[in-house]
Amino acid sequence: MRRSRVQFPPRAPLSYPANVCGLTLQFGQVYPIRMNKSLIPTQELMQRVSGTHWLNNNYVAGSGPRTAVIDPATAIQCGEFAHATNTEIDSAVRNANRAQHEWRSMSALDRASALHSVADKMLAITATTGEVLTREMGKPFRESNWEGGASASAFRYYAEIARNDQGRIAGPAIAGQLHMVIKEPLGTIVSIVPFNFPVLLFGWQAAAALAAGNAVIVKPSELTPLTLLTVMQAFDHLPAGLVQVVTGGAEVGQYLVAHEGTHGVAFTGSVPAAQAVAKSAATRFKPALIEASGNDPFIVMPSAPLDAVARGAAFAAFLNCGQVCTSAERFYVHEEIYDKFVAALSEQARALRVGNGLEKVDIGPMASTRERDRVEKIVARAVEQGARIVTGGKRPKHLTDGAFFEPTVLEVKPEFDIMHGECFGPLAPVCKVRNLDEAIALANDSKLGLGANIYTENLAEAFRAVNEIESGIVWVNTPLNDNDAIPFGGRKFTGAGRELGQEGLEQFRRSKMVMIAPTAEPDPEWFPYPDSDAFNA
Ligand code: NAD
Repeated sequence: MRRSRVQFPPRAPLSYPANVCGLTLQFGQVYPIRMNKSLIPTQELMQRVSGTHWLNNNYVAGSGPRTAVIDPATAIQCGEFAHATNTEIDSAVRNANRAQHEWRSMSALDRASALHSVADKMLAITATTGEVLTREMGKPFRESNWEGGASASAFRYYAEIARNDQGRIAGPAIAGQLHMVIKEPLGTIVSIVPFNFPVLLFGWQAAAALAAGNAVIVKPSELTPLTLLTVMQAFDHLPAGLVQVVTGGAEVGQYLVAHEGTHGVAFTGSVPAAQAVAKSAATRFKPALIEASGNDPFIVMPSAPLDAVARGAAFAAFLNCGQVCTSAERFYVHEEIYDKFVAALSEQARALRVGNGLEKVDIGPMASTRERDRVEKIVARAVEQGARIVTGGKRPKHLTDGAFFEPTVLEVKPEFDIMHGECFGPLAPVCKVRNLDEAIALANDSKLGLGANIYTENLAEAFRAVNEIESGIVWVNTPLNDNDAIPFGGRKFTGAGRELGQEGLEQFRRSKMVMIAPTAEPDPEWFPYPDSDAFNA
């Protein structure tokens, strides 16, 4: 979920469509986009896109019921979203299928060029989409601003690799013929995204799906609808309806997945929601990319330099307030360095500045008070089972309004509940192990299998971790990083399929077998069969 070498985008001044920003939205009314030089405050923009869906390259006021969007740093409402009605979704699906026919008919070079333009525009507006994201779900602005750049990078990557090939030619089974597989787009893809990295994860799915020739309908999280609506300004040059956003809750996602007019699904979120989506998609045999929860282990061996380990551990546990699917959720630390590690990690945790993500802080609030309350219960249960809180474990005294929770280090035992589910909060439960065998066995004692970390400078230990840990990703001394060119995903209950890399493109293509004979001549294998081939001949 992080690429340290991605450049942070410049904070360019932005332009917004005045005709969206200057009007009172009305139900069902269409507000066409025209980029111009008018610059309005982001909070104003959030009000203007509140209650709309992005349909056919326009912000259209939704007619369904509204839900408030709350800034988790201040507990003040910062906007609202409309729950898309079935009629609105039907219309979005029709738009998407129409646009997809146009898009798939374009040359691969023209599609690549259009996707590079998406990347350019995303970079140009990332300071604003970043601010909206921080206001909606709390993460520090640095992280929100980074997301736009990282997402743009995925669009550039897929813009190019998608035109490398569109299938392959096989050695013919019949002399003189051309036998091949053509890779075709699936049609319209439903993209369902969570709150924690909405711009990045939407980008990973949409870039690959579009590059493969599909249309995309996005259903954002209820906590971050305004961010993805704002991002749509980077897509307004594509065929109308090719990329659309419909907001709402699980019911909107369910309706889209089950819809006969959609042809593939890309889901990122929790395991129960993933299972509901996968079941529904399976009923219509729709290919479904499923990226669900993680509870990544983090193994520390004595050869690892303590300072780097403690800082890496703090980053892996507390980035985005621990709301990363690949957050380090379970620490298994060799007994030789256990005490020193606990002290060093706790010192790192205490030094983190917690506060409003628009200020100079390292950690923002959790995305909602519901999430904060859930994490509080996990801590309470761990303490009940005998955990020792070394630092944190409560709401910060000076931040009473928002959904804040202190970065927390706990000493635990492997059997405690906290080690057997996804915490998805700023918690670092640490457990002592005797050796690498025990650490790997505990790492594998999980129903989930997304990522895994090991810190060691012993090559043999690193090789063992890579080969023996049951996960989709292993990081050796470099937590949380990713690479557009390498597939990302998990195993076990974490899901099925892969994002990024060539594998990520294949998720959104289907194969068509094609055989061509150069001339239309009778085949000697056809009727009538020669008598010499009969059973009693
Ligand atoms: P969530 O499951 O509550 O919601 C995710 C999305 O699914 C939302 O848009 C939601 O409205 C929708 N949804 C929920 N139920 C649905 C249903 N029955 N049918 C259709 N759509 C439905 O998840 P969240 O709280 O937003 O995100 C946190 C979770 O996402 C964590 O478990 C985290 O590990 C996971 N995640 C996984 C990855 C990955 O790559 N594996 C990446 C990021 C987050």
